[in-house]
Amino acid sequence: MDFALNEEQLQAQKMVRDYVAKEVIPTIGEWDRKQEMNPAVLPRMAELGILGICIPVRYGGQGFDYITLGLVCEELERGDTTLRVIMSVHMGLNSLSLLQWGTEEQKQRFLVPQARGEQYGAFGLTEPGAGSDVAALASTARRVGDKYILNGEKMWISLATKAHNFLVVAKTDPDKGARGMTAFIVTRDMPGVTTGDLHGKLGVRAGSTGWIAMQDVEVPVENRLGEEGEGFKIAMSALDNGRYTVAAGATGLIRACLEDSLKYAHDRKTFGKPIAEHQLIKQKIAYMQQWYDAARLLYLRAGWLKNQGQRNTRETSMAKWYATDASVKAALEAVQIHGAYGFSDEYPVERYLRNSKGAVIYEGTSEIHQLMQADYALGYREDRPLRCELPAYDPELWQSEAEAIGN
Ligand SMILES: Cc1cc2nc3c(=O)[nH]c(=O)nc-3n(C[C@H](O)[C@H](O)[C@H](O)COP(=O)(O)OP(=O)(O)OC[C@H]3O[C@@H](n4cnc5c(N)ncnc54)[C@H](O)[C@@H]3O)c2cc1C
Repeated sequence: MDFALNEEQLQAQKMVRDYVAKEVIPTIGEWDRKQEMNPAVLPRMAELGILGICIPVRYGGQGFDYITLGLVCEELERGDTTLRVIMSVHMGLNSLSLLQWGTEEQKQRFLVPQARGEQYGAFGLTEPGAGSDVAALASTARRVGDKYILNGEKMWISLATKAHNFLVVAKTDPDKGARGMTAFIVTRDMPGVTTGDLHGKLGVRAGSTGWIAMQDVEVPVENRLGEEGEGFKIAMSALDNGRYTVAAGATGLIRACLEDSLKYAHDRKTFGKPIAEHQLIKQKIAYMQQWYDAARLLYLRAGWLKNQGQRNTRETSMAKWYATDASVKAALEAVQIHGAYGFSDEYPVERYLRNSKGAVIYEGTSEIHQLMQADYALGYREDRPLRCELPAYDPELWQSEAEAIGN
């Protein structure tokens, strides 16, 4: 067991930490107040290589490992949740699904421009009437010759109005429930696709969250990801990767709460001494440190399993559940430590609290993760091999231009 980060991981971590410190933290409060996404964010993340960080060089990426993806997400959410959300959908849910399930032709067509940051990816699973209960989704895909005709509406979709490519799941055989679902790559330029933004959100206000409507959208069969009927499995495997980025990001949010609270606790004085010296404040700090350490170890374990090419649904769910729940607790304590100033947008801790609440809802609510963990422990649930697993990280292969990876 080796807990040390290697040179490449440290280098990527530093690059993102510097970017966040110089370009995100000084401006994010203003964009959050405006409830708009800073238009510089996506192009800058593309320029820095962040949007393709763990994608092999052959597919337009930087060739780092999955642990680096986690470290990058931690650093991004140290600045603001909205930047990590970009990674969750563009990389975790979309690009890594293409790496795992896509044909070589699909990888060249969609993964390469996404990893280079020339195009952005999103993920459309949730619908107005189906969130946790994925099998209840109502979107349909009817095969006609060499095309599918898609109809339906996707709701609460991050980057809905920004992304070029949407990985969506629809029912090809509505009578078969979860086994009757199929995954497709729908592109913004297809006639019948419309999108819009949602407003009035509690958190991730500097991010983009919206809806996608599909009306008689003709999707060529070459845009089907995986086989007909594999949509549910593909969506669940996508969530293994999305949840990993959420877990790592929530760890960064805990760190933000801790670091800001440490500074405030040293500066603010009551009863003739810094509040840091009061025992009840120390207790809050101690808990935040404990939450941070545990959350970090849990996401690193999941990242390590991904690097080995081992199934990690159970471990990733645990990391996501723990880190996001802990980030809400850490944000509540950070606001408390800041007293009345924590109740104002003069300090970022109120934004941390609002942002933390989203992550206990998306990518599996905390209740869903509790059910999963109990079912694993009780022996009611086990992971079966998939037709396509996420490829294990291989440094040489990831740097090679020549060799195809995956299917
Ligand atoms: C900011 C944000 C961004 C998002 N981005 C995306 C995206 O990019 N793509 C996408 O597809 N979706 C996205 N979502 C949607 C998100 O994944 C769903 O909101 C989530 O899956 C929960 O679904 P729901 O909101 O319909 O809640 P519901 O499923 O209706 O659940 C309502 C409540 O009931 C509880 N509950 C449900 N079933 C059970 C059960 N069996 N036992 C106990 N309790 C239960 C839930 O935990 C929850 O508390 C996003 C959501 C938000 C808030």
